[in-house]
Amino acid sequence: MQIPGHIDPVVTPRAITPRKDGRIDLMGLTHLQIKELLEESQMDAKAAKLRSKQLFHWIYHRGVTEFAEMTDIAKVMRPWLEQRFVISRPFAVQEQISIDGTRKWLLRSEDDQEYEMVFIPDADRGTLCISSQVGCTLNCRFCHTGTMRLVRNLTPGEIVGQVMLARDALGEWPRGNMASAKADDDDDDDDDEIGHYSADGRMLTNIVLMGMGEPLYNFDNVRDAMKIVMHHEGLGLSRRRITLSTSGVVPMMKRLAQEINVNLAVSLHAVTKEVRDEIVPLNRKYGIEELLQACADYPGISNARRLTFEYVMLKDKNDSDADAQELIRLIRKYNLPAKVNLIPFNPWPGAAYECSTPERIKRFSSIIFEAGISGPVRTPRGRDIMAACGQLKSSSEKKSRAELDRLAEEKQAALG
Ligand code: SAH
Ligand code: SF4
Repeated sequence: MQIPGHIDPVVTPRAITPRKDGRIDLMGLTHLQIKELLEESQMDAKAAKLRSKQLFHWIYHRGVTEFAEMTDIAKVMRPWLEQRFVISRPFAVQEQISIDGTRKWLLRSEDDQEYEMVFIPDADRGTLCISSQVGCTLNCRFCHTGTMRLVRNLTPGEIVGQVMLARDALGEWPRGNMASAKADDDDDDDDDEIGHYSADGRMLTNIVLMGMGEPLYNFDNVRDAMKIVMHHEGLGLSRRRITLSTSGVVPMMKRLAQEINVNLAVSLHAVTKEVRDEIVPLNRKYGIEELLQACADYPGISNARRLTFEYVMLKDKNDSDADAQELIRLIRKYNLPAKVNLIPFNPWPGAAYECSTPERIKRFSSIIFEAGISGPVRTPRGRDIMAACGQLKSSSEKKSRAELDRLAEEKQAALG
C-alpha cells in the first residue's frame, strides 16, 4: 500500500560519480568484483584470482591505501595497479570531540554529499555509529535526521569506508607480516574473535547502524558493506558485534536475518497505534503487531542473544506507567527475548518534543525491571557536539544534477 505524503521510502539507485582521472575505486568491492575488474584489464584468470585475494587482504585487513606498500605483490605489478585503481577513504571535512570523549566526523563524498559518523568510547568497548543514507525518508517526528530530505543511499564503499576511516583515526590497523592473518574460514560465531585487536576501551570493537538513515531502505549496500566488515580476510568483526537499528521495515527483516543475521534493534518508541502513527509515521504502513510478529520470527534471537527495543522518552507522550505496562504486555504476548533501551530524548533546534523528567524515566525503567525485563536508561553521549542519537544532520540538501555539475566545474576551476 502506498502512503501519500512524504513517507514514501522508495529511493532511486544512483551510480557513483565517476572519478575524473578515470581510475576505479576499489573501496567497497568484494573479492569477486575486484577479480572481474582485473580480468577486464586483461589479467589472466588465474593471476586475477590470486591478486584479488591479496588486494582484498591489503585493503580491508591491513588498511593500506597505497599499492606501493603491498609487499607480496610483484614490484612491476604495483604501478600497473596504480594506473588503473585507487583505494579511497571518505573525505573528513570536520572532526569534533565531546567533553565525554565521543568523536563525530562530518564526511563528504566525491559528489559533495555530507554524512556523519560517531565513535563512542567506553571502558570496555568502543562503538562506531555509522550512517547508511544521506538524510532519511522517514521523518520520525523526534529525529533531526528526519527533517532532512533524503539525498541518496550511501554506496557499499561509503559505508565500509566509515569503518576504515575510523580505524585510520584510531591507529589500529594490525602490523607485522602477512602470516599473522587468520587462516580459518569461520567468520562468525566467535564472540571474542576480533582479529588482532586488543579492546582497551578506546578501540573500535562494535559497530551500530544507528547513524543517519534507515538501513533497511538501503539493504543491499548495507549488506555488502557488512559482509566485508565481517569477512575474516576483511575487517574481521563478528556479526555479534554489529547491530542494525530499524524503525520497523517489516518486509526486509527476513532478508536481514537470512543474509547477514546481525543483531537487531527495533525503534519501537510507542505502544499504541495513535502515538506511534504520530511519532514514527512508518507505523501507518507496518503496525505494531505486525512489527512484533516479525521480531518473533527473527531467527537467532534467544536469551543469550536478545533483541533490543529502543524507546525514546518523550514528556507526556509515551512515558506513562500505563505505557510501560503495555510494553511489558506486548513483549510477553510475543514471547520476545528482548531488552528495552530507554533513550532520553536528545533535543535539537526546532524539535516539537521535550525529554521526560529524570524521575519519570527512572520510574518507567523500574516498572520494566520489576517485570523481569531489562530496561536500562542509556546515558546520552556527545550531546554537546550534536552527536547523540537522533541529532545527526548534515547540510546536504537535494541538489539538482545541473547544480551538482556546476559545483563540480567550480571545484575543477579552483584546482586550476
Ligand atoms: N533509522 C534507524 C537508525 C537510526 S536512528 C532507526 O530509526 O532505528 C538511531 C536511534 O535513535 C533510533 O532508535 C531513533 O529512533 C533514535 N532517535 C532519533 N532521534 C532521537 C532523539 N532526538 N533523541 C533520542 N533518540 C533518537
Ligand atoms: Fe530516519 Fe531513524 Fe530518524 Fe526515523 S529515527 S527519521 S528512521 S533516521
